[in-house]
Amino acid sequence: MTNRSTFDDVMVPNYSPLAVIPSHGKGSRLWDEDNNEYIDLAGGIAVSSLGHCHPKLVQTLQQQTAQLWHVSNVMTNQPALRLATKLTELTFAEKVYFCNSGAEANEAALKLARKYAFDKFGAEKTEIISFSNSFHGRTLFTVSAGGQAKYSDGFGPLPSDIKHATFNDLASVEAIISDKTCSVIVEPIQGEGGVSSASKDFLNGLRDLCDKYNASLIFDEIQTGAGRIGELYAYQHYNVIPDILTSAKGLGGGFPFGAMLTSTEIASSFVVGTHGSTYGGNPLACAVAESVLDIISDQQLLDNVKSKHRKFIDGLDHINQRHNIFKDIRGMGLLIGCELKPEYQGKAKDLMDLALEQNLLILVAGPNVMRLAPSLIIPDEDIAQGLMSLDKAIEKFLGNQAPA
Ligand SMILES: *Cc1c(COP(=O)(O)O)cnc(C)c1O
Repeated sequence: MTNRSTFDDVMVPNYSPLAVIPSHGKGSRLWDEDNNEYIDLAGGIAVSSLGHCHPKLVQTLQQQTAQLWHVSNVMTNQPALRLATKLTELTFAEKVYFCNSGAEANEAALKLARKYAFDKFGAEKTEIISFSNSFHGRTLFTVSAGGQAKYSDGFGPLPSDIKHATFNDLASVEAIISDKTCSVIVEPIQGEGGVSSASKDFLNGLRDLCDKYNASLIFDEIQTGAGRIGELYAYQHYNVIPDILTSAKGLGGGFPFGAMLTSTEIASSFVVGTHGSTYGGNPLACAVAESVLDIISDQQLLDNVKSKHRKFIDGLDHINQRHNIFKDIRGMGLLIGCELKPEYQGKAKDLMDLALEQNLLILVAGPNVMRLAPSLIIPDEDIAQGLMSLDKAIEKFLGNQAPA
């Protein structure tokens, strides 16, 4: 019989999964092999945007598995064409490129930014500006663009001409941007980096600087996109239009999927043969993503995300009045971060472990921030029950902190 200890025997040790092995899920609830029931406020990691096994997604996938799985990019397919049409209708984008993950979407975005600058302005315009604390995926290019050294240390030599400025500090960008800059990549809300929102002035300022220096502006919306913040994409909230946008996680609703969105002008640098992916745009993933998009692009659903945000914030404020554990409660829509007070520095993971003991799944975003990224359609009673379990976990957590 295989169990959790099998993992350590046969898997590459780059993960350290929890002791619990889930067996099935429904909505915002998950069950393990012993049939213990959990409230899921993690949604994978901001992935299961419609919860587990949403009936419409199950139906779509079942239909598509019986119809057509794979044809390669030598041919196109109807689900991909329909999805691309809808994405271009619903966003600034005129062209889309499909792949299988967030890192691949960013890899495509960064390659396209370089290629477009090369085609249009010549071989000298290669510099990419990213931000400290950012996260853009785990390929070599994307860990290099990412602003957390722990993900790129030891993997050198890294791709060159990537500089890091300070998030929400326009002056730090002004200090390094130049005619050599080909692109600026930014998360409108830094997810892994601690659920930190960009200010409107900052994103507007980046837009102006990119225009001034003929650099493309890339929004990494892999975590903030697909309805997560109560708009289809965060750029719509900020009213700042990027040149390239990447989407993954919630858009696949749990099925591996990624997309890069851009303009016809910039897309023109990816001519036939310049970039590609065997599985990118396959009918299974596109059929699921189309169903996700159909559901989440509904205004009522997006409005509900905002009212559910309010419910979480009110509940978390109440918990904090009782326990005085959080220094800051922040985020937008259903991407919420709670930063621990300085006396609990580095202990977000301890809280996550205690939550699991209360049959509650939550996330961390770095060592000091508890993160919630539940299903966009989480029922109100699951919010209430989840917050009650969180309250108990925090009680235990604080009990453990008491001086001996
Ligand atoms: C998760 C994430 C990625 C990487 O996505 P993968 O599907 O794991 O490759 C990139 N950028 C952001 C902002 C993310 O949250």
